Amino acid sequence: MVKIIASIFSIVFSTSMVYCQEFEVDKFDTGNGKELEITFVGHGTLVFRYDGTVMHIDPSSREADYETMDDADLILITHHHGDHCDPTAVEKIKTDETEIITTQLSVDKLGFGTVLTNGESTTYKNIKLEAIPAYNLVHKRDNGEFFHPKGTCNSYVLTIGNKRIFIGGDTENTPEMKALENIDIAFLPMNLPYTMTPEMVADAAKAFKPKILYPYHYGKTDTSIIVSLMKDEKEVETRMRDMP
Ligand code: ZN
Ligand code: ZN
Repeated sequence: MVKIIASIFSIVFSTSMVYCQEFEVDKFDTGNGKELEITFVGHGTLVFRYDGTVMHIDPSSREADYETMDDADLILITHHHGDHCDPTAVEKIKTDETEIITTQLSVDKLGFGTVLTNGESTTYKNIKLEAIPAYNLVHKRDNGEFFHPKGTCNSYVLTIGNKRIFIGGDTENTPEMKALENIDIAFLPMNLPYTMTPEMVADAAKAFKPKILYPYHYGKTDTSIIVSLMKDEKEVETRMRDMP
C-alpha cells in the first residue's frame, strides 16, 4: 500500500515537474533567413537556439529540471556564483562536444571550460562572443568586499546574424555597459543587494538604448518601477518576462 501511494505521488510529482517546464519563448529575425529563439527559463537562466546551435546560458537546477533539457552545443556562464554556475545542471546537458565559455573562477569550480576574460572575444561557429566586465560599483558584503569585484565576472555581447545581444552578468550600471553601442536586445539584472536597483537599470538602459530591454534576475523587486521609469523612453521597448 505504501508503495502504491509512493508511486502515485511520484507520477503526480513528475507530471507537475513537466508542467513547470513550459517556458516563455521569443523569436527574432536575424536578417539572414535564420531565426534566433530565446527561451526564458528563470532568474538569469536562458536558452538560445540559432542555426542548429543550442546555447545554454547560466544553466541552473534551481530554475529547471536539466534532465529534460536539450543537450548543449555551447554553455555560456557569466560567473561562479551558485545561481549562475551549477555543476549539476552543466553535467546533465554537457556532451563530449559541448564547448563551455566562462570565467576563471567558474572553470576552477567546474574543473573544465574555456576562460574568456574581460575584454576578450571569441567565436563559436557563426556566433561572436565578447566578454564585458560585470562588477559592483556600490553594493558590498558586510566585510567591505564587492559582491562582484571587477575582473572576476563577465557580461557578454553576442553577435548573431544582424542582432547584437547583451547578456548582463551580475553587474551594476558600469561605464563599460553604458558605453555599449548598437545593442538590439539587452538582459539587465535587477535585484538587491547583488545587482541593480530599477533606477540603475533605467540609467544604464537610457545610456546605451537597447531596442529591447529585458529586466531579469529580479527576485522580489517590484517590476512596475522599471516599466514606469522607462515608459517615456520611446527608443527602448521594455519587455517583462517571468524571470524572478
Ligand atoms: Zn553573482
Ligand atoms: Zn546572480
